[in-house]
Formats: sequence, C-alpha cells, structure tokens
Amino acid sequence: MKASQFLFATLKETPNDADIVSSQLMVRAGLIRKLASGLYVWMPMGLRVLKRVERIVREEMDGIGSQELLMTVTQPGELWHESGRWEDYGAELLRFKDRHQRDFVLGPTHEEVITDIARNELKSYKQLPVTFYQVQTKFRDEIRPRFGVMRAREFTMKDAYSFHIDKESLAQTYQDMYDAYSRVFSRLGLNFRAVQADTGSIGGFASHEFHVLADSGEDDIAFSSESDYAANVELAEAICTDVRQAPSQARQDVDTPNMPTCEAVAEHLGIALTQTVKTLIVKGAHSEDNPDAPKLVALVLRGDHTLNEIKAEKIAAVHAPLTMATEDEIKAAGLIKGYISVDLTIPVYVDRAAAALSDFVSGANVEHKHTTGMNWERDAAITEVVDIRNVVDGDPSPDGKGVLSIKRGIEVGHIFQLGDKYSKALNCSVLGKEGKPVTLMMGCYGIGVSRIIAAAIEQNHDDNGIIWAEPQDKADSIAPFYVAIVPMKSKDGVAEQKAEELYQTLKSRGINVLLDDRDERPGVKFADLELIGIPHRIVVSERNLAEGKYEYVNRANGEKVMLDLEEVLAKF
Ligand code: ATP
Ligand code: MG
Ligand code: MG
Ligand code: MG
Repeated sequence: MKASQFLFATLKETPNDADIVSSQLMVRAGLIRKLASGLYVWMPMGLRVLKRVERIVREEMDGIGSQELLMTVTQPGELWHESGRWEDYGAELLRFKDRHQRDFVLGPTHEEVITDIARNELKSYKQLPVTFYQVQTKFRDEIRPRFGVMRAREFTMKDAYSFHIDKESLAQTYQDMYDAYSRVFSRLGLNFRAVQADTGSIGGFASHEFHVLADSGEDDIAFSSESDYAANVELAEAICTDVRQAPSQARQDVDTPNMPTCEAVAEHLGIALTQTVKTLIVKGAHSEDNPDAPKLVALVLRGDHTLNEIKAEKIAAVHAPLTMATEDEIKAAGLIKGYISVDLTIPVYVDRAAAALSDFVSGANVEHKHTTGMNWERDAAITEVVDIRNVVDGDPSPDGKGVLSIKRGIEVGHIFQLGDKYSKALNCSVLGKEGKPVTLMMGCYGIGVSRIIAAAIEQNHDDNGIIWAEPQDKADSIAPFYVAIVPMKSKDGVAEQKAEELYQTLKSRGINVLLDDRDERPGVKFADLELIGIPHRIVVSERNLAEGKYEYVNRANGEKVMLDLEEVLAKF
C-alpha cells in the first residue's frame, strides 16, 4: 500500500470525549471515528487491524472443526418470547416493531437463532457433536457505553455454539474451545489469563472468562500465589467464604410467620453476635408464595432494636426491608451495615449466605465492611452472595494453595457450558441411539473481536502512540502495516527509487508493507507511523545509500541500526 493513496486520518490533539488511553489513541491514529454514543466507524486503518484479528480467530475456530455461518443481526421477537428472554433480558435488548407490528430485536447474542436452526436441521445423534460460529455485529444498548470500542453498543463478536447428545461431549468441545481461545490470545501477543467465571442466571455447568490484564479493566480477578487458581472475584468471593452446613431448621424458621428471635437465627446460622452488631434480621419468602419478593434478606443492624420493636414499626425505616426492600430504602434505614439476598429455595445459597453472614457479623473490622447493593430485578435468579470487597489481597486461596492477589482484567472472551436451557425452551432434540428424542446439550463461546483491539492497546502503548505486540509468527501481527518504508527527498530521486524497489521486493514476499510516499516532512511521517504503531520502519536516504545502508528503527524498543540491503531483507 502506498500512503499517498491511503486515508491517514491521524489527529494531533486528543479528542476530549475519549475517556481512556486506548480510545484516545484509536481515534488519534485514525483507526476509528465516533458516530454517536457507543457507535464507532472503523476507518480503513482500523479495519485492517480488525480483519487481522478476525483472521486469527477464524483460523483457530476452523482448526477445531467449528463451521462458519452467518446469522442475521435482526431477529424475530417470537424466538425471544419462546426462550423467555424477551422478558428477562432487560434494557440492553433493543426491541422494535416492523411495519406489520411484529416484534423484532437487534441481536445482542444468538442462542435463540442458532437453536432454531439446530432444531430444524439436526435430526440424529449421528450428526453430533456439531459447532457453528460467526463473526458478526452485535447490538447491546449498554447503560453506559464507554471506553471507545471496549464497551460499545455496536461491536464485533465471534460467537460459537455447540450441540451435543450428552454432557461428556459438551465437556470435550468446551475443552477444545478453551484451548483454541488460549491459542488465539497467545498468537495476539496478549498478556491474558483464563479465570473461572460465574455461571450466572443461566446456571450452566461451567464457565471461564479470558481476561487481558490491564489496570483499566472493569473486572476484578483473584489469582493464587502458588497455584493456577484464578477466578473472577464475583465468583471467588462466593467460594472463598467458608461454606458450612446451614441447619435446615433455620430455613424453616425464617419462613414462618412468627419471626424467630435474632439470637435464634444467629444460632441456627452459627453466627456470633457481637457488641457492635446486636441486631440481625433474616427475612425469607418462598418464590412460589410471592415471586416479586426478595427471597431472603439478611440485614445486619447496629443498635439494640429487637425484632418485636422493628415488627411493631418502632423503627419505621427498617420496616420497609422486611417486606419489600429497595436498595435505597435499605440504605435510608441508616443503621444497616449491609444486606445479603439469596434464593431460599436453593440450599447451597442459604449455606453461602450463612457463611458470608457469619464472616460479616463476627469479622473484626465489621465497621469497615460494606456490601454492594443488590439488583432486585436479578434476585429472582441470584446465584451468589454479592459483596465484591469481601475478597482482598492476601486472602487464602480457596484451593488451599497460597494467597490471593487481585488484579484488574478486561473480559475479551467467555465460554460457557449452557446445558439444556435453550434447547429445552425451544424444543431442540434429535433421535438418540435408542430411537427416542433427546434434548440437546449446548455450549456457547464468545470473543470480543473489536474489544480485543482496545485491550491490546491498553496493555501496550507509550507516549508516542500504539505499540503492537510482536508475535512469534510475524504473519500474526495485527498492526495495520508491519513495515513502513520512508524515502527522504533526494536530488535525483535515488532514495525514492530505492525505496520503491525495496517496497516492491517486500510486497512480493508477502510482507504487509507501507511505502510512505506522502508529500510531508519526515517529522510528520515519523510521528504518524509511531502513533499508528507500525512495528518496523526503514528510512531510505541519499546519504546512507552512498554507504550502501538503510536506517532501521524498531517501534517497540526504539532500536536504531544501519543495515545493508541484505540485512534488511533478512529481517523480514
Ligand atoms: P461485559 O461483562 O464486559 O459486559 P459480557 O459478559 O456482557 O461482557 P458476553 O455476553 O460474555 O459479554 O459476550 C462475549 C464477549 O463480547 C465478551 O467477553 C466481550 O469481550 C465482548 N463484549 C461484550 N459486551 C461488549 C461491548 N459492549 N462492547 C464490546 N465488546 C463487548
Ligand atoms: Mg455485558
Ligand atoms: Mg461479563
Ligand atoms: Mg461474559
């Protein structure tokens, strides 16, 4: 590519609405342009990067036998009604109607569509296991789009879905995906970690997230100092808590109309009530009785209020949480140290709540603990006790090996053993060995293709601009151009001529090379090339040519050496 024929949309100034270094650099380097909140145009320079990431992802998906297809961005609402997610998904799902008043959504993910394809196309266990993938635009109406393409509303995802006759087959494909993801992120030269993740409201069997380690990440990741244990803190927190057997009596008691005394509840839960925290309330309600109610709310209060006083509305503000608390109401009660909400119908969550409560109440520095607010909308399916600061640097690792350290991560990939949630809801089955219909097991696997680019830049840049990682195989470099050749103006055009010759030679060898033949001062060109992060630069000047030399500069480490032509060619 000749730079004179290519749009260099570089900017000197940092755009003031770019909130993070990667988005600033991506805009300044002319990779992207913001169209509206969470909507970005990939400029020619940026699209070259995106395509290179896509190529690596495709190679690894093809490599494990996943078949590429392309679904539609627009999806019939009917499928989302069938899966139940029309109601469940929340405001991130952009819903709209066509001219016939039929419901549609812009796809934030494609479980429904792929399951519809599978139920129509798959007939027999002999066709399994099978995996499909696509690289496609997703739309999520993020509540707070930010950080450029990192948390955009429209973004590129590679999403894959697998179908299986049984759990064992699902586990095998999951492992293949795990390995393929590890290869993708290694080839991209990212400093990443795979971590155990929450199976969330879907409640599948297993889940891992892949995180690029960077201070700007939005997730907290806990690592063991002495083992491979690594988990999203949200999950680590729940497991870390010393889960003890919750006496079943406690569950019955909290459900009875006659509320037990706080001492009795504390005893059942094995909690020591301290002087600082004298009142503990545990309120329960089964989901069948009242689907809207929080399933179990445990409040830890400071003071000497008895349950009877509270029930008698002597403490009016606190009464609200006993019936139907909102986060604000609970906070408004003022005295409350924190609260935990779990699904009472699932014993393990009660166990965890008990353990967390115990820690919470009897902890030495109870004064400084606080729990995060619960999202009541999500509580119907809450899976963990949420108190993200529960796990701190130095806590023992849940696997008993070493202590935890907490780092920030950017989620670039997520794999998930879904089980039969979608296949059951959409009635996706095939004929099994015994000739009877078998509901399929499913896995889903996502990579944030566009987010990867921002994450790579977060991890690797300097004051002059982007630095693209040098991969083991140079064909894997995601830099928009791998080498730039810069001719210096020469009297009889000899430098320009030699630069053109070198350009043609490298091009013929399949090198992704740019000839910077723009009519600009060298300083402008060098600044642009550094901003864009082109890994290798070769300056061709009359003076150096007189000695048979070319000036080579390495973007990443600043190395500057004089090479003769053979050495230049040997380098690439
Ligand atoms: P996050 O926790 O960051 O909101 P997610 O868990 O909602 O991400 P998934 O549903 O797991 O995302 O989607 C798969 C991948 O898509 C994520 O791992 C991430 O890399 C990418 N992704 C998700 N949301 C966005 C977004 N708004 N902008 C860019 N990439 C995204
Ligand atoms: Mg999200
Ligand atoms: Mg996530
Ligand atoms: Mg995720």
